[in-house]
Parts: sequence; C-alpha cells; structure tokens
Amino acid sequence: MIKRIAVLTTGGDAPGMNAAIRAVVRYAISNKLEVLGVLRGYWGLINEELKILDHRSVSGIINQGGTILKTMRCPEFKTKEGRDRAYATIKKNSIDGLVIIGGNGSFHGAHEFFQEYKVPCIGIPASIDNDINGIEVTIGSDTAINTALAAIDNIRDTATSMERIFVVEVMGRSSGFIALSVALAGGCEDVIIPERKFDFQEMCHSIVEGNIRGKISWIIVLAEGAGSAFDIAKKITEITSLETRAVVLGHLQRGGRPTAFSRDLALNLGCLAVDSLLKGETDKAVGSCCGKTVKIDLEIAIRKKELEIDRMYNLIKVLT
Ligand code: ADP
Repeated sequence: MIKRIAVLTTGGDAPGMNAAIRAVVRYAISNKLEVLGVLRGYWGLINEELKILDHRSVSGIINQGGTILKTMRCPEFKTKEGRDRAYATIKKNSIDGLVIIGGNGSFHGAHEFFQEYKVPCIGIPASIDNDINGIEVTIGSDTAINTALAAIDNIRDTATSMERIFVVEVMGRSSGFIALSVALAGGCEDVIIPERKFDFQEMCHSIVEGNIRGKISWIIVLAEGAGSAFDIAKKITEITSLETRAVVLGHLQRGGRPTAFSRDLALNLGCLAVDSLLKGETDKAVGSCCGKTVKIDLEIAIRKKELEIDRMYNLIKVLT
C-alpha cells in the first residue's frame, strides 16, 4: 500500500507547474498520503534534497509561473551511477511512488528509472514545447503561446506603422509547435520551423512581389531550432533590399501567470496522477485528449509527437 509519495519538477520550467504541484500535494493529503517535495528535479533525488509538503506549503502558488520546487537539467541522472543514488534516496526515505512533472526528457528519465528499479512513476506533462506524444497539449504550452502572441501583436503595430519586415524567433527547441500556433493566431505572413524544408528564395520573391503590389509589412515567425533571427533578417535585407528587423522573444515566453487553460489542466492532471499511483498504476503519463483525460504508457509518450505541419502551414499561407 502506498503511504508516501514524492513530487518533482524537472527540465525546462513551464507556467502551471506550480498549480500541478498544488493539486498533487492537496489531493494526496486528502487521500491520507504523505508528500515529499524533491528540490531541483532529478538532481534533488540524487542528492537527497527533500522537504515535507503540507497543505499550507502550496498556498498562494496557483497563479505563479515557474516552480516552487525549482528545476534544473541533470546529466548525472542519465548515468547508471546517478540513478543508483536516486534509488538509494527513495529507499532511505520510504518513498512508494514518484510524480514527475516535466517534458519529454523528464519522461525518458522516468521510464528508464522505472524499468530499472520498479519504483512506481507517473508523469505529468508540463513543457512549453508541447512535446509529449499521445496527448493534445502539455501544461504551460497554452500560456507560452499566448505570451508570444501578445508580443507579436505588439510587433505588428510597429511593423505596419514603420513599414518593415520582422523576423520573430520563438522558443520550441526542435519543435515548431509554438511557431506554427503563433503564426496562425497572429496572422503572420510566414513561418520557418525545423520540421519543414523552407524555400528561402521563394519567400524573398513573394516579399518583393508583395511590396510592388503595395504590401508594407511582414512578420515571419522563426522556431529557434530552425536558425537565427538575426542571420535570416540580414539575408532578407540582402536579397530584397527591404529593411528587416530581428526580435528574439527568448525566456520571456517561459514565465508569467499561467492561463486558465494551463491551470485547469494542471489541477486535473495533478489529481489524476495521484489517483493513478493509488490504483497501483505506473510507467504512465496522464494527459488529456479530445476533451477527456487519458493515461498513456511512458514508452509511447516519449516517442516523437507528430504535428499536422503541412495542414497548419497551408492554413497560414492561405489566410495571409
Ligand atoms: P524536458 O523534460 O523539459 O524535456 P530535458 O530534456 O532537459 O527537459 O530533460 C530533463 C532531465 O531529464 C534531464 O536533465 C535528465 O536529468 C533527465 N533525462 C533526460 N533524458 C534522459 C534519459 N534518456 N535517461 C535518463 N534521464 C534523462
């Protein structure tokens, strides 16, 4: 029987992680479980950085971005020695189950850890990259998209007033998810993502043609994994002779108050994760798909998530 669980946030922080922690802690306590918070993700598990979380310790965090448990990347957890030490912490502290709040990398770690030591592990998908297969959206991705969209709306004001081209770089590592979503919602003229071959000459050609017809401004969204906004802006100016500016949104997309959507998702999934542990389930991610909550084997959740790239790209181009 499960008596004590531990919760941790790992990898890149995402808005809504705190709401997920709150739900895990309070739902677990209401089910007579003890909860330990692990500080700084897998690093805290390896180095035994734990603290008891009670009902009050998660007060006032539901609306805060980031994570009160802190997070960091931990290369040591990718080694057998690191995971051995993490397991020692779990035994020493009588931890019966782990809730891992993070993205694709974090779930890789959780899956490997469960395979080796059979410690019950449930993953809650939280990442601005929306990189978990088999579920619709991760906690935080909606907030990040809205933050990037607000910036793009601001840029459009100056782009149209000053008659300029802007290349706006958004986050997303190897995924074009944020870029595609923002480009569509922001009515942007083009989008460059790692998953799709891009014809640079063709884009410059259509900019020049549009300019002759009287079109005065462009916003081109660039996913960070597909190049540098400064390099692309420079090349556009060289080819078209039109003034082009680069904007890198960077880390401002990670922070901020989670949207209602990110929070609700976090609260639902936090409770579902604890429920899963209580039912004896393990090696799974909880999520939502088609308006329903789902549980997916971590082995499937860590596979590459396929986006409807061509459909979305065509939509962006048709609606421009
Ligand atoms: P995210 O979870 O946001 O995708 P990362 O890719 O940085 O973030 O992964 C978070 C952490 O998960 C890493 O720092 C590492 O400790 C652990 N991790 C990632 N991949 C693996 C793996 N293949 N095996 C074991 N641990 C891993």
